[in-house]
Amino acid sequence: MEKRRFAELGLSAEILKAVDKMGFEEASPIQTAVIPHGLAGRDIVGQSATGSGKTAAFAIPAIEKVDVKLRAVQVLVLCPTRELAVQVAEEVGKLAFFKKGLMEVPIYGGQSYERQFRALHAGAQVVIGTPGRVMDHMQRGTLKLAQLKVVVLDEADRMLDMGFRDDIEHILKSVPEQRQCLFFSATMPRAIQELIKRYTRDPEWVKIEAHAQNAPQVDQVYYEVDRRSKIEALTRLIDLHDFRYGSIFCSTKVMVDELDEHLHARGYAVDRLHGDITQAQRTRVMDKFRRRGFEFLIATDVAARGLDVDDLEVVFNFDLPNDAEDYTHRIGRTGRAGRSGRAITFVSGREIYMLQSMIHYARLKIRRERLPSLDQVEEAREHVFFEKLRAVLDEKKFKVHDRMIDRLLEQGYTSTDIASALIHVMQGGAASPETAKPEKAAAAKEFFAPKESPAAAPPRAPAPVPKAFAAVAHKKEPAPTAAKPAKEFSTAKPVKRTYERKPRTGREEGFTPVSFNVGRAHLVTPADIVGKIAGVTRLPAAAVGAIDIHEAHTDVDVANEHVELVLQKLQGIRLKEQALNPVLTPRG
Ligand code: ADP
Ligand code: MG
Repeated sequence: MEKRRFAELGLSAEILKAVDKMGFEEASPIQTAVIPHGLAGRDIVGQSATGSGKTAAFAIPAIEKVDVKLRAVQVLVLCPTRELAVQVAEEVGKLAFFKKGLMEVPIYGGQSYERQFRALHAGAQVVIGTPGRVMDHMQRGTLKLAQLKVVVLDEADRMLDMGFRDDIEHILKSVPEQRQCLFFSATMPRAIQELIKRYTRDPEWVKIEAHAQNAPQVDQVYYEVDRRSKIEALTRLIDLHDFRYGSIFCSTKVMVDELDEHLHARGYAVDRLHGDITQAQRTRVMDKFRRRGFEFLIATDVAARGLDVDDLEVVFNFDLPNDAEDYTHRIGRTGRAGRSGRAITFVSGREIYMLQSMIHYARLKIRRERLPSLDQVEEAREHVFFEKLRAVLDEKKFKVHDRMIDRLLEQGYTSTDIASALIHVMQGGAASPETAKPEKAAAAKEFFAPKESPAAAPPRAPAPVPKAFAAVAHKKEPAPTAAKPAKEFSTAKPVKRTYERKPRTGREEGFTPVSFNVGRAHLVTPADIVGKIAGVTRLPAAAVGAIDIHEAHTDVDVANEHVELVLQKLQGIRLKEQALNPVLTPRG
């Protein structure tokens, strides 16, 4: 696919300086294709993969069209979400850095009108906004579009998915006839084509094929594992490599659900996609995944079809795909854009023959590896922990806690012992083995780790940045990363993510005992029970109280307000080969 130097694209000196400052060495294929038409005033319909540089593709010609002496809105970019609006505004700011007098402003719901109004009033020429908020400002008369020259729809398909169609049409109808319309969309469903037909004039279609951009650099390995050990193998590999952003493919919906439950119960931030999940829910999950609102997406091939990410650290083939084409499609979501990714495939039993024939006929480059031992996992974690401590020490990135340390020293503890104790605590240790077993205490915290609290995450190494451009020196701010609650500091030892609650001591305030028809006879553990409840209902930690295992049944304290849900959702769910039949525990 063709790429060109920015200097060959007919750009102003200001823009050339800016892209140079941003570290862009050459224009990406979509930029090479779009920018000249944009400068020529053509309407454009652009289609290319995530991370291929669409923002600059539309922003550069749009900025070139702005007359800075005119203090009126000349460019309007519509984006589906506020995050994206802010991101695009930032990129516009950088690209227009040397174009004195150009002002850009993101406008989106949730921020005060006042602030946005002031920027508009001050004469911002480039407005980047979500359709709803843009409409609001138009109706209030605070956003005037009479001088508009360029309107851009970024991620048009997503905007339609999110129900912005009416707003978009309203906006497009109210902008001047003589404007340029740039239309970007990853997919071209009928609704988009209609919009294009209605609101563009003889557009130039630019489509960049995903595979042509860059040969994926994916490190591909497979492991032969027993079917029953797959989950263990999966978590071991995740922990060993400290993966934080990936997808896991299964061949059936049932497997997706099961794995989702298991991983969730082990404290990983996961979510799932399959055909039985409503479209609205799917869109939410994908959105959240793109924003890195959780770590691992578990999906079937079909459900993942609309998943246009390519910056995953890892793709797991938990189940073998049907054919080499599916395989290639799955792993195309990692290792794109000039950075290396990993694809890890599990085969069990006779599947090895299927894999071998795929390797042979499709010339796949997958090598065999042996599963890391628990010791290796532990070693790797200790190494990470050690390096982290050392970095903190070297950079002196810590507050001095003289007073606390002095007090301990005064009481006769040595500094090595104090340091050791601290490390012990950080790794999830507890004060006294009587009150809680160290590993279990850590696991307990981790167990119900909220799936949606990236804010609580300790800082970690920057996540990979999408880059559709080999050999570019451009650096980007680390993307927001998903949470790995508690894991950071609690896992220098491989945490057995078992779960133990104190035995039932009688009914707690606000809880109702629910009786489950599994017990010691079925070898059930508290972890099994809590895991099942968490996986099926997704209730928070506080929802389950004490657990009391009897021979043939188990009493579980459930927060009053969740009792209905638990009774209903757990009904018929299988645990230890039993179909569960939860009932309110009879009194007495
Ligand atoms: P898209 O909208 O197609 O998903 P973006 O416009 O968000 O992609 O660009 C993805 C990343 O690539 C951003 O960090 C951006 O700054 C960077 N980028 C864009 N164009 C170039 C280029 N020509 N060279 C290097 N990096 C670029
Ligand atoms: Mg984009």
